Amino acid sequence: MKKTKIKTPSLLSELIGKPTAHTCKKKLKCFRCKESINVSNVFFQIPKQRAGLTSKKAHCLRCFDLIFTQTEKELLALEETLRTAQASLAE
Ligand SMILES: [Zn+2]
Repeated sequence: MKKTKIKTPSLLSELIGKPTAHTCKKKLKCFRCKESINVSNVFFQIPKQRAGLTSKKAHCLRCFDLIFTQTEKELLALEETLRTAQASLAE
């Protein structure tokens, strides 16, 4: 297994649709960490665009948590920029 040091992806940069939660019906592999997702576990599907095709990639809870946290950080940073811009207009 190849270990790549890439930063945690954010939904903001990758998202082309809404992630959805599913209960695993047959054993899957997490798209990101390659860990198994076992039957009856909940996992998240994140739609991704690759070479013009949309595919829904399964993500384990741990990876989705990391991605979610990364997204939240980016959203908060955006919100801060937005509020600062609004505040400077209001002066
Ligand atoms: Zn994973």
